[in-house]
Amino acid sequence: MSTSSLDAVKSREESLLCRGYGRYPIAVASGKGSRLTDIDGKEYVDLLAGIAVTSLGHCNEELAQVIEKQARKLIHVSNLFYQEEQLDLAEELLSLAHFGKAFFCNSGAEANEAQIKLARRYMQRVRNRDAYEIITLDKAFHGRTYATMAATGQERFQDGFAPMPEGFKTVPWGDLNALEAAITPKTAAVLVEIVQGEGGIRPMYAEYAKGIEALCRKKDILFLVDEVQGGLFRTGKPWAFQHFDLRPDAISCAKALANGLPMGAIMATDEVAKGFVTGSHATTFGGGALPSAVAAAVIRIMKRDRLDERAASVGGAFMERMRRLAESLPGTIREVRGLGLMIGVELAFPAKEVWEELIRRGFICNLSHETVLRLLPALNIPEEDLTAFADTLEDILADIRK
Ligand SMILES: *Cc1c(COP(=O)(O)O)cnc(C)c1O
Repeated sequence: MSTSSLDAVKSREESLLCRGYGRYPIAVASGKGSRLTDIDGKEYVDLLAGIAVTSLGHCNEELAQVIEKQARKLIHVSNLFYQEEQLDLAEELLSLAHFGKAFFCNSGAEANEAQIKLARRYMQRVRNRDAYEIITLDKAFHGRTYATMAATGQERFQDGFAPMPEGFKTVPWGDLNALEAAITPKTAAVLVEIVQGEGGIRPMYAEYAKGIEALCRKKDILFLVDEVQGGLFRTGKPWAFQHFDLRPDAISCAKALANGLPMGAIMATDEVAKGFVTGSHATTFGGGALPSAVAAAVIRIMKRDRLDERAASVGGAFMERMRRLAESLPGTIREVRGLGLMIGVELAFPAKEVWEELIRRGFICNLSHETVLRLLPALNIPEEDLTAFADTLEDILADIRK
């Protein structure tokens, strides 16, 4: 296998897999820390980390040991049984914020489905209100299942899949008046990302985030936060909402939770968690012993190594460097946005060529909305790797300006 070329892998895939992914021109063979190696042995610095998933680096040694040990002890028995691995994970997760209860599933979309279901059921069965509408923000991304696709509210994700489930509304980002006008007696909740990820890295500012929460309190509806991408220490806090002293009723998380094993979770206040009773919601794989043991270890390592503080300082310094670069090479970088190690570098022109050149020179990041280089590196990425990326980007942009 290791001798096959990228083209051979491509044509093999075309005959075997459903279409649906635009792939990068790399067939990955292996990974270690913040490095990936392709099938021809070329090494890359990975600043994408599986889209904010491998926050502790590829094939993390401590986690490999947890996986090996747990794989020999218990992998799966279903949710018909008590499993202490789930409880250890719940204690770790709940130690990070004000929530009282957790529910485990397998992905970000499923976590958002769970919090949408919880919000509706809480309103309808606990509060006895006929409220079901979920309001989201434009350019949001909440997943690809039917409910989360409707919550995402973007044409390009819904094309050909009509009809969408009812009860979802999208309002313009940054507009509190539009949000207030959209809230009706049928509204159950507002669901937002604190830093829009797929939307091209767009962080909320305090006044806006606090304004949304205040509106939810005033109208007595639930305030839900999608922490699937921004959560778990990436933005410089355990959860992104903690930048603004918010107290959401529930949050979803997933991507980095088990460092690459499929795992999602929601956390809710004790009050809102009353929305689920025995039989309300379930999943076969959710909270399995293996991914739960790994996720608990992930959070312990993140806490032990203070990776939130590291993300804030290392990410802050990197963004500073990018802003200086923008000044020294006018006309190349339009804006640098982000929080911690969730960073968008928006170019003043389509970024495809720059992105391709970065790959040629051995650096992987994401190209988002044509002009944004999106960086979501491992939280323990060596600073030299970030510096090397910045030097290389500077070099490429300086060449373009010539
Ligand atoms: C990735 C993502 C999702 C969807 O997660 P999946 O695991 O792909 O289903 C939902 N919300 C946000 C903010 C995301 O970044």
